Amino acid sequence: MITVHEVAEHYGVSDAFMVRALAKIGFRQDKPETALPTPTVERFEAEFGNKIRAARPKPPPTFTAETDAAPTASRAVRKPMPHVMRVAHARVTGTRLPNGMRVKALLADPGPVHAIDAAGTRDGDPWRGEVVPAAVHFFDGSINSGPTAACGWTHMRAVLGDEFVPADDPSGAGQCPRCAALVADGKGFRDPPDPYGFRSPFCDAYLRLRVDGNVSVKDCTLRDFHDGPHRARDGAEWEVGVDDYVPSPDEVGCRITKAS
Ligand SMILES: [Zn+2]
Ligand SMILES: [Zn+2]
Repeated sequence: MITVHEVAEHYGVSDAFMVRALAKIGFRQDKPETALPTPTVERFEAEFGNKIRAARPKPPPTFTAETDAAPTASRAVRKPMPHVMRVAHARVTGTRLPNGMRVKALLADPGPVHAIDAAGTRDGDPWRGEVVPAAVHFFDGSINSGPTAACGWTHMRAVLGDEFVPADDPSGAGQCPRCAALVADGKGFRDPPDPYGFRSPFCDAYLRLRVDGNVSVKDCTLRDFHDGPHRARDGAEWEVGVDDYVPSPDEVGCRITKAS
């Protein structure tokens, strides 16, 4: 059986968050090592899975003025992160862990694999320029979302820690021929980094704030150049920032404050 703490780790939230969230769906236990019945894990996913994924913070911008902390030596000599062209899959599947939790999984036969420079995507490079064979990162969101590959193919659903090494015979090796040709020419990098590539139809506004003291990040889910206020997936709206923020239905009655 899976414990409260293990589920918290899976979702990237604190044990304290888990305990509060579980209490909301009727499971009152305050110990991280408490084992959770499978139906409770499923109920948690149904109630909170999308909300947690929608609120996951983005990596901070690279060149933020840092006034609240003294610059460390390593920060002063920080070099640009090396870009690794990685293997990306346009199709993934779902599976169930023995404990019943649904998770994404790679397909044994994903079709031609593409190349992606993950450093310029919204999620950033999960391995910060290191090659980590067999590691995998799944992109959140619907099946029709996800960053573009080097060739411009949209909606990559997973990026691997492996480096994309163009084969002599790309098609025979299961590689996208256009991606392989671009990488072989040293092209296909996101420079300047562009989270979605030129095809993005979506507004990229987001708002960081605190809801009852917890930092939350709201992504606008509307189309690019939309009219009216930005709107997050949970229904929250804002035009400029926290001062004109209209909470989502779940946040009514919560204390909304600036994140910093
Ligand atoms: Zn491709
Ligand atoms: Zn917007």
